[in-house]
Amino acid sequence: MADIIKLLPDHVANQIAAGEVVQRPASVVKELLENAIDAQASEIKLIIKNSGKTLIQVIDNGVGMSDTDARFSFERHATSKISVAKDLFQLSTKGFRGEALASIVAIAQVEMHTRVASNNVGTLLKIEGSKIISQEASAVPKGTSVAVKNLFFNIPARRKFLKSDAVELRHIIDEFHRIALAHPEIHMKMYNNDNEFFNLTSSNYRKRIVDIFGKKTNAKLVPIKEETTLVKVNGFVYKPNFAKRSRGEQFFFVNHRFIKSPYLHHSVVEAFKGLIKEQTRPGYFIYLTIDPANLDINIHPTKTEVKFENEHTLYTFLKSAVKHSLGQFHVVPMLDFEANPNLNLPYAYKNKAATVPHIEVDKSFNPFTKEEHKGTKKSVSIPVPKSSPSHWEGIYEGLKEENAKIESDFESIPFEDTANQTLFKEKENKVTASTSFQLKRKYIVSPIKSGIIVIDQGRAHQRILYEKFLKDIKTEKTSGQQLLFPLQLVLNTTDIALLLEIKDNLEQAGFGFSDIKEDTLYISKIPFLINEKEVQSLIEQLIDKVKIDIKESHFSQKELLAKTLCKSLAVKSGTVLNTEEQGVLINDLFACTEPKISPFNQPIYITTLVEEWNKKFMQ
Ligand code: ADP
Ligand code: MG
Repeated sequence: MADIIKLLPDHVANQIAAGEVVQRPASVVKELLENAIDAQASEIKLIIKNSGKTLIQVIDNGVGMSDTDARFSFERHATSKISVAKDLFQLSTKGFRGEALASIVAIAQVEMHTRVASNNVGTLLKIEGSKIISQEASAVPKGTSVAVKNLFFNIPARRKFLKSDAVELRHIIDEFHRIALAHPEIHMKMYNNDNEFFNLTSSNYRKRIVDIFGKKTNAKLVPIKEETTLVKVNGFVYKPNFAKRSRGEQFFFVNHRFIKSPYLHHSVVEAFKGLIKEQTRPGYFIYLTIDPANLDINIHPTKTEVKFENEHTLYTFLKSAVKHSLGQFHVVPMLDFEANPNLNLPYAYKNKAATVPHIEVDKSFNPFTKEEHKGTKKSVSIPVPKSSPSHWEGIYEGLKEENAKIESDFESIPFEDTANQTLFKEKENKVTASTSFQLKRKYIVSPIKSGIIVIDQGRAHQRILYEKFLKDIKTEKTSGQQLLFPLQLVLNTTDIALLLEIKDNLEQAGFGFSDIKEDTLYISKIPFLINEKEVQSLIEQLIDKVKIDIKESHFSQKELLAKTLCKSLAVKSGTVLNTEEQGVLINDLFACTEPKISPFNQPIYITTLVEEWNKKFMQ
């Protein structure tokens, strides 16, 4: 048999290798920004067009390259950063594989301008699909500019797999954040479609975090500073009361390199244990400095995972460093977010001597007579039983009456099947106000023909609002309430960018925006169901949801919006509902298309059949 093995041509090998390095526009952004940092730039500008699908350009004022180096930099395994294997253990640069540029030119059209300080004239190099198209002298400033156009132009299958502009932009912003946070000393700018997204002047860690995540962040930060012979820990954690349900801001850096480490994350979470609510996650920006000899960053092609020599010691040290900071900055006493506000006595009461409370007893009161319940229109204040032992028979009298009432209701509600979704649908099925009551301010209990139904009020309301919002958003019908004075919300640039992505849907849901500036949102109209006071937290929750959604879920924007709105607007457990409100809630619930399950897949009600009780009483 003839020999069949042959070496792949370079451009094919490069395309294959590119698959590892370049998954999406954000990967190119990362590599180019890292090269600029390795070239000791003090100013870096990132220019993006169409979320990187049309153009990704990085301009730096670093050391630049000679004509020959410029050409050579695009070869595979061409690097100026290491020369022997042991250099891998003394790395101080971001790159070292010499693969990035070779991979990028294999799958895009690239133009590079570069000049070293010692030359008066620089060079302009054009490469397309690994082929050098031209190289000429060019009058350019010191430093390097690499423009990457039409990514995956020669691999249509890969181009097709790119996500929407919003998703790709989000990934690019994530990479930009990571590098900007690791290098606050560098002046960094970012533009997308000619809009300035960031202009981060040279500063320190704290200011960089605030510049990126907004002015409000400053008050959230608790500094960490701890050192051993093994590691130096610097940075910040968010005060525990700012822990979020969404992933939020969680950053680890090792020697100025962003890394992902579930193990170290766990150690921070442990340090916060007991201080934050369940299912919320702490925010942190933690910078570790470790001798490169104790570190292996070589295990992942895109280098976001590292291996530590003394992982366990690091875990323990980090945990105690975080705990120490939280304690030192007196964060702990502030954590009492569940405290009963009634316990905070006004100062005037504090020094008063305790007196015996005076109790007035209405001896004729019978909690079951109907008159007592009448007139309770809005919130029901649960009457305190005032009956005295000498009037105990009265209780039974009332009960008899109440029983008779329930029985007659049984007859008037022709339910065939308690599990039937159309339970309350027809008019005659309406549960009248007097047949329901509230239990523990959480459940609405009501008799039905074959037993009783217990409804979770919060979930029921979520379902009602969810279907309403979804319908409104889909039919583009909603009108909102016009505000006399527009509400002004200060957000950060990224959040504004994300908000613009869902602006149309928000408008359909009843929001109106009179102006959207770089970091300020002017809201002129809000949906009818929303209170002005809730708007800020609602918008913030929405942005958080969009962030997570882009990363990991498959919900449409409309569903997402409806879910967020219904969740924050639904009545919560603990809210007192009067009988009239209970009736409305029940009727609205059973007018829904899916009354059984909440929008978050939780059961809304359960029914118990009289037959089951009969069986139990027989035992
Ligand atoms: P690596 O960064 O792993 O060395 P790259 O393919 O990213 O590999 O870059 C190859 C080489 O090109 C680098 O080692 C560096 O010498 C040079 N280079 C790349 N980008 C720049 C830049 N912006 N400024 C100066 N030199 C650069
Ligand atoms: Mg590199």
